[in-house]
Amino acid sequence: MSNTVTEASSVESLESAFELTALDRCDSCGAQAYIRVEMASGELLFCAHHGKKYQEKLSGVARSWHDESAKLNADRNS
Ligand SMILES: [Zn+2]
Repeated sequence: MSNTVTEASSVESLESAFELTALDRCDSCGAQAYIRVEMASGELLFCAHHGKKYQEKLSGVARSWHDESAKLNADRNS
């Protein structure tokens, strides 16, 4: 008896395939989006704060998780 179970739930992270701009806004609060979540039903944009907040909840259903929140520390003009 050989029962092969293939896992079809491999989340591929497409690095730098998508550049978020200042025009992309968080779906929760309207701040600049740094995180883009691709899901079966569509995509969601989050600021760094809400991205972290929803990461645990969405990681199970997200197809890909694009995180540019590192830019927050990289180019801060203040
Ligand atoms: Zn937000």
